[in-house]
Formats: sequence, structure tokens, C-alpha cells
Amino acid sequence: MFDWKQDTHRRLNPLTNEWVLVSPHRTERPWQGQVEAADAAAQPEYDPTCYLCPGNERAGGARNPRYSSTFVFDNDFAALRPATPPDRFDESGLLVAQGEPGICRVGCFSPRHDLTIANMRPAGIRSVVDMWAGQYTELGARESIRHVQIFENRGAMMGCSNAHPHCQIWANAHLPNEIAKEQAAQLKWREARNHCLICDYAALESSRKERLVDENATWLAVVPFWAVWPFETMAMPRRHVASIDALDGGERDGLADILQRLTARYNRLFAAPFPYSMGFHQSPTDGESHAEWHMHVHFLPPLLRSATVRKFLVGYEMLAAPQRDLTPESAAERLRNA
Ligand SMILES: [Zn+2]
Ligand SMILES: [Zn+2]
Ligand SMILES: [Zn+2]
Repeated sequence: MFDWKQDTHRRLNPLTNEWVLVSPHRTERPWQGQVEAADAAAQPEYDPTCYLCPGNERAGGARNPRYSSTFVFDNDFAALRPATPPDRFDESGLLVAQGEPGICRVGCFSPRHDLTIANMRPAGIRSVVDMWAGQYTELGARESIRHVQIFENRGAMMGCSNAHPHCQIWANAHLPNEIAKEQAAQLKWREARNHCLICDYAALESSRKERLVDENATWLAVVPFWAVWPFETMAMPRRHVASIDALDGGERDGLADILQRLTARYNRLFAAPFPYSMGFHQSPTDGESHAEWHMHVHFLPPLLRSATVRKFLVGYEMLAAPQRDLTPESAAERLRNA
């Protein structure tokens, strides 16, 4: 048997049926690549030039209300638009395309420009969880909307140009690639074993502990066995819940708590604001019952060895398969100790 800590091996992601190559010995190689400036500048509570701060004018000309909790609005520069014709184009099965109507919204977490999930109060994050659940319910109830993607890009390294704490909500008619893969895998698992894939995975990680990063009464967070990004994590509710609107009060508080704990650990890891893309995977809103779905959160942060050195997915990763140097077990240990 190979040595997990030394020998190159590949690991299967059972949610996507894709493999990741793990080459642990490569962390010793010298680094001569790009070093990014850490974006650690302190933010003001209110920024008169921020298009998300209360009372300010946005680029599209609309003015934000003087909101005091969360605030959601239709994105002024939306990638998805409701009036797009849904026609399909197909030439010989080679040139295939389809119109994709939808809705893009922005959700502000707080009127405070300088806060992040890591330093918001629990009640404030709970309001954000309720906002997410409300958006999922409202948008998902529309006939034309079969999937609602809620996500946050944090930090300039992730292409986020505005420090104001906010998320994006993209709702459309077709299942995106990652959701379709995970749905198929969960359905197959359920049909083969009469169990839920993520219930089984949560139970296994809960007992093994080596990839566990944090937990509370209703949620646990792990570095997945098949993680691609160096400090990637996945948080899941202990109970089998298909979507965020079905979380009870205790589980919503638990989600707020686990998000706060995880983001605070990330910030402590390299003593700097930690960039990431974070988002929910959950049941589509197509009117079907999806007993196979177990909702969860993915954190995909790019940092590798410090606040300024990031992991690039290039070359072999772009052409063949994702690859990582640091093992998920040692990443989990470092996050637990942060
Ligand atoms: Zn702001
Ligand atoms: Zn489950
Ligand atoms: Zn997922």
C-alpha cells in the first residue's frame, strides 16, 4: 500500500466522479513564481464611493435605500436577463446552443462596509442565512427558474472588486454543470444503497476526525478527501436537508456559526484576509421532489503557502486533471490549529 503522506496517488470525488492527483512531496519544491500583494488595507465603516453602501448611488443610476440589515437588488449588469428568448439552436449536433433567461441579484450582508462574515455578530449572519433562504424560495417558485445559485467571491484575488460584504444570486432554467454532476452522483448512490451519499460521508468524517476542521450541534466542516484547492472546505448539515429553506431555526443558527468559524480560521491561517469563492449546492427548484439531495457549502480558496502566494490551476490541471501538493489531512490539521 502506498504512503498517503509521501506517494503520489489519485483520489476520487464521489460527488462528481472526477479524480484529483495528490503529490505530497512537491510542497518542498522552491517557489519562484508570482507573489501577490496582500489586500489587507483597513476598510471604513462607510465608503462614499461604494455602490453597495446605504444611501449611495449605483453605477446604473439607482440609489440604495438606507438599509439597516440585509439588502437585495437586481444586478445592474446582470449576466442573466429575464427576457432572453429560450430558443434552441442545433446544427448537426455539432453547433448546439440555447437561449438562457434568468435573474441575477446582489445581496448585501450588512450596511457596514468594513464587516465580513468572519467578524459579523451571529445574529447578523443569521439574517444573511434567512435572506438566502428567502431568495431561494422566492426565485425558485418562478415557473422559469429551476436552479438558484447563491455564492460569494471574497477578495481581489477572486475578482471581487468591492470590499463591501455581499453575495451574488444567479437563477436560471438549466442545471449548471457542477450541480448536474452532483445530482447524478447522489441519485445513483441512493438508488444503489438506499442511503444518502452526504449523510454517509458526514458520518464517516465525523468518526475519523482527520479531515474535520470544525463542528457544532447541527453542522460539520471538513477538508474533503478529494479537495482540489489547498485549503478547500465543505460544510454540511448533520440532518438530511435538501435545501436552505428547509433548515430549521437551530440549523440556520448552526450554519451562521459554522460560516463564522470557518472564515475566522481562514483569516488566522496566514494572518491576513483570506480570499475565497464560497457557495451553496442544493436541490434544484424544478418542482420535483429530490430526496437524493443533501445541501452543502463549498469554500474554494486559492491561497497555497502564504497570504500572497496562490495556487494556480494551469497546465496539467487545465489539460488533464486537477493536482494538489498539500494533502487534505495536513490542510485540515493546519486549519484546526489556526
Ligand atoms: Zn460599502
Ligand atoms: Zn443526507
Ligand atoms: Zn457540491
